[in-house]
Amino acid sequence: MTLHTVENRACVAFGIKDVRQVQQPLIYAPDEQVLVRIARGGICGSDIHYYQHARAGMSILKNPLVLGHEFIGVIDAVPTGSRLKVGQRVAINPSQPCNRCALCLEGKQNVCRSMKFMGSAQFDPHVDGGFCEYVAVTEQQCVPYAEQAADRVMVFAEPLAVAIHAVHQAGDLVGKRVLVTGSGPIGCLVIAAARTAGATEVVATDMSPRCRALALQMGADRAVDPSDESSTAPWGEGGGYFDVCFEASGAPAAIASTATFTRPKGTVVQVGMGPATVEMPLGLLLVKEVKVVGSFRFVDEFATSVRWLESGRIDPLPLVSAEFRQDQVVEALEMAGDKSRAAKVQLVFA
Ligand SMILES: [Zn+2]
Ligand SMILES: [Zn+2]
Repeated sequence: MTLHTVENRACVAFGIKDVRQVQQPLIYAPDEQVLVRIARGGICGSDIHYYQHARAGMSILKNPLVLGHEFIGVIDAVPTGSRLKVGQRVAINPSQPCNRCALCLEGKQNVCRSMKFMGSAQFDPHVDGGFCEYVAVTEQQCVPYAEQAADRVMVFAEPLAVAIHAVHQAGDLVGKRVLVTGSGPIGCLVIAAARTAGATEVVATDMSPRCRALALQMGADRAVDPSDESSTAPWGEGGGYFDVCFEASGAPAAIASTATFTRPKGTVVQVGMGPATVEMPLGLLLVKEVKVVGSFRFVDEFATSVRWLESGRIDPLPLVSAEFRQDQVVEALEMAGDKSRAAKVQLVFA
């Protein structure tokens, strides 16, 4: 197998508050892989966690890791006979499932036990991400989009795919009353996706007035402070008001409240990553026959997400708080980590 080497500058996490630009040659297989020059990336919660704590959930940083799982770019080289073309703009799906296990063969690649998700320290060796000048990926990871679509919109392909998958997990939303607890970037994208999927009423909660304002911009009918009991008390009356609750905060109090606010036979979708264990009023779930389902990453929803963004069906731009150049990655991570100032922060690659 022939291997090529490309000069590459990458944003590498070495430890707590230690992210640096590193010259790190990319070695790839031109007969099998697509070389993509990165145009733009979006900073996500896990990137911030690796920067602040050298871990994200159960994934602990043991070796240096190239950050980033939300990124788009322009194709630089393709294997002969590829359906893709040099110069084409693509959103890159960071999922690299094994495609051989029983779950993958059933189309459930998001829960593949051998998933090599880019920009993640879940496995040792870690899987490098896309915050660099070039990445080498498979053809299947590349989803082309129209020339006229804006990069700052298309770089939402990954987080919007997470939101659309959460909506899928809830089943049919046509005519439903929906609550979204937590109005960070994922919560806000769930609001937009639930609206697009036919929900009649979408209500959002968040402690932060800034996040509540964003929730309204992204399509919520109302945005409520969860500590305001005069607003939330009616949601628990008559067995519960909402058909579906999307829990996007990971906050223990919000998670527990979904059992009260969901009506009998309704559904709770847990999409926010919270602490490993939380208290849940199980008796309430039992007598109301409320279904609780997890939602993790996405499968085909990545392609759907690219189409919805490209066509303008969902406009994510209210969520963009700032953009920085690649060499300002530390400033970008600092800002993204300050929840009082920022929703989504983007990185622009030269
Ligand atoms: Zn993300
Ligand atoms: Zn698999």
